[in-house]
Amino acid sequence: GSKNIGFIGLGNMGGFMATNLINAGHKLHVNDISKPACDKLKAKGATVYENTTELAKNSDIVITMLPNNAIVECSYNAIIDGGINKDTIFIDSSTVSPDLVRSLQKKISDKGARFIDAPVSGGVIGAEQATLTFMVGGTEAEYNAVKPVLEAMGKRIAHCGVYGMGQAAKLCNNMCFAITMIGIAETMNLAIRQGLDPKLFAEIINSSTGRSFSSEIYNPVPGISPTSPSNREYAGGFSTALIAKDLGLVKNVAADTNSPIPLGSLCQKIYSNLNQEGVVSNKDFSVVYDVLKNGKLN
Ligand code: NAD
Repeated sequence: GSKNIGFIGLGNMGGFMATNLINAGHKLHVNDISKPACDKLKAKGATVYENTTELAKNSDIVITMLPNNAIVECSYNAIIDGGINKDTIFIDSSTVSPDLVRSLQKKISDKGARFIDAPVSGGVIGAEQATLTFMVGGTEAEYNAVKPVLEAMGKRIAHCGVYGMGQAAKLCNNMCFAITMIGIAETMNLAIRQGLDPKLFAEIINSSTGRSFSSEIYNPVPGISPTSPSNREYAGGFSTALIAKDLGLVKNVAADTNSPIPLGSLCQKIYSNLNQEGVVSNKDFSVVYDVLKNGKLN
């Protein structure tokens, strides 16, 4: 049935996710520090709040889709400080550390309410088309309670285990995505430098063993994958700043579990350097191809 849903963080992903919830018949209560982001949702029928405690008090379920650990933690502290309803379920769909999930879960359950992690994969296109994969960490009962709502935004809702296990799955996926992205960037460049036609070579790799999401749906070379950010000068999509953040989280969980990640840590260094230089921080992370092609990757 129709629910009151709070949504905090209406960026590249959250804007479309909130829209899909409205389209599914839910009543949306939204917040973002960006006024244009709020205005877009207001035009679709959502109620805009400046005060997130008030937003949460009017919501059966609150979803957060924010940039990073520090912002997610700060936002929840602000909500909790104002007092929360015991029957509200909080779902964080941002990509953050499993440790932060466990600490927020404890804080919120101490106040009698529920908190679970449900990070997503599928990119901005997946958010727009409601085909995201949700990776849920929580109890079986919590998973069953939120599943129908998540289904309005995604096509696969996976129960990964206890609190933090959604993030565990998400971080592993993103490490692999970064590895294949840099891999396909250098592969495409090598093919093009040898004189191969980029489109023809992409068709070959996409029907051969080198195929991946990075080569097929998200090719970093402009003019190959119709919906790839490379076709619009790497605007929108999944920013270099965000993949650098995710790979930092990957590095921590790898250290905690004593797991060797030679390629993952190389990607972490590459994206952290790119991000620190600042020039491409806001561009989609497939911009790594452009930087590499121009001989500026270090
Ligand atoms: P984004 O930067 O486009 O959106 C973040 C939004 O949060 C912005 O609209 C910003 O104004 C808002 N915001 C920042 N601080 C705030 C605060 N204190 N209170 C309220 N709003 C605040 O980021 P995104 O690409 O939508 O990603 C969001 C999260 O989802 C990140 O954790 C990211 O790693 C993850 N993610 C992104 C993708 C992707 O392809 N873009 C895919 C999967 C997961």
